[in-house]
Amino acid sequence: MAKKDHLKCISCEEFYHMDEMLTSYYGSPLCEGCESDDMTSGCISVILPDPDDSGENTCYMGTHTRYTDPAWNTLVGEDVINDWMDTVKWKNTDGWRGHYVTGVPEGYERIIDGWSSGGWGSGTTAVNDFEDMWKNEHEQFAGIDMFVAVMPTSNVFSMTVEVYVHKRHLDAFKRIILGDPEVFECELKDVATDKTSWYTLSYERWEKVCEELDMDDEIYFYVEDKIDLWNVKAGDRLDLDKSFEVVSIND
Ligand SMILES: [Zn+2]
Repeated sequence: MAKKDHLKCISCEEFYHMDEMLTSYYGSPLCEGCESDDMTSGCISVILPDPDDSGENTCYMGTHTRYTDPAWNTLVGEDVINDWMDTVKWKNTDGWRGHYVTGVPEGYERIIDGWSSGGWGSGTTAVNDFEDMWKNEHEQFAGIDMFVAVMPTSNVFSMTVEVYVHKRHLDAFKRIILGDPEVFECELKDVATDKTSWYTLSYERWEKVCEELDMDDEIYFYVEDKIDLWNVKAGDRLDLDKSFEVVSIND
């Protein structure tokens, strides 16, 4: 029964005095008990590498609450995590079974999408490989603009694992997962200034550039801003607004 100054909790539907009530992320009254339950059972975790050291930061999303403060001081930032959380929806597959479906924040790619049963080596291959790297060589991910979403499914033994990486760090992320790619030296001339510089490129990246531009790799290519071309060894970046001509290649 509604009493004076009492509010109904959005979750358990019990009435509590307004002074004891918290507010859900969506602005509804939420009792303290339900708030703490929401963050402990079946919530979604979003894990972000620390930008400077090997630590990690974990955000949570429950049915009524969100805890996104830990993202504030990461390369991803709190807004991106909230935007991503806005896209999360539960999808029933059949009967009581289901899983979460999610969107991809602008500028990011969902590079791993699989599942884990919590024990190492017992999920999908990409997730296992990633978990292995994350566990043993965590410091490598420091400085990568990325986040990992771990979401419960209707199978209590299975979690969905998704890894999102900002497009500017896709190559760097792949290098961590796949190891150092085979690289070659390439001398490029800036068409506007006639200045030449040597760059180290991976074959994988080179092929992708040529494929996207539909050009012969021995003649000429143009670097547009959509193409993220990195100097693999030094981490320098080509100026993406300029045209380059290939002067020579050292295989
Ligand atoms: Zn409640």
